[in-house]
Amino acid sequence: MAKDMSKIEPITKKKGTAYEDAPEDLKGTGKMTDSQGICEYCGQSRFVKIFPGEDPDKVATRECECSEARQERELQNTIHATKKGMDKRLKNISDDLRESLKSWVEPIARNELDSIAVKLDASTIIKIVNKKDKPTCIVSKHDVLEIDEMDGVME
Ligand SMILES: [Zn+2]
Repeated sequence: MAKDMSKIEPITKKKGTAYEDAPEDLKGTGKMTDSQGICEYCGQSRFVKIFPGEDPDKVATRECECSEARQERELQNTIHATKKGMDKRLKNISDDLRESLKSWVEPIARNELDSIAVKLDASTIIKIVNKKDKPTCIVSKHDVLEIDEMDGVME
């Protein structure tokens, strides 16, 4: 059966201030304006260039070199990398389930939660846990026979 092309949605990239939307993605739009923002950790004020709709305080925090801002940046990068790894390695499960598993990465990375484990079927367990201080998703089959893990390593 031929595919109905009219039903295929065009791929549009969401733009925002989330770390997932790296500023590099937005470069070239030529719509940056000068603004001033305050780092939410150290309160330092700085001049920043923002894209329309972007929060200058968020940009200032993202660019700040204070230790809290740097720590937060590292954490966000790790969370992002872990989620990307899950996108890649958990291709076989439904999008909804994958997204819901990914939503647990952040609270675990922030130690608000120790771990979660989901039994996918009779022989597969997906567990998200901090391993060496990094959120890690472990997919284990038959508990011990096969262990497949990924950690927050950027590609
Ligand atoms: Zn700061």
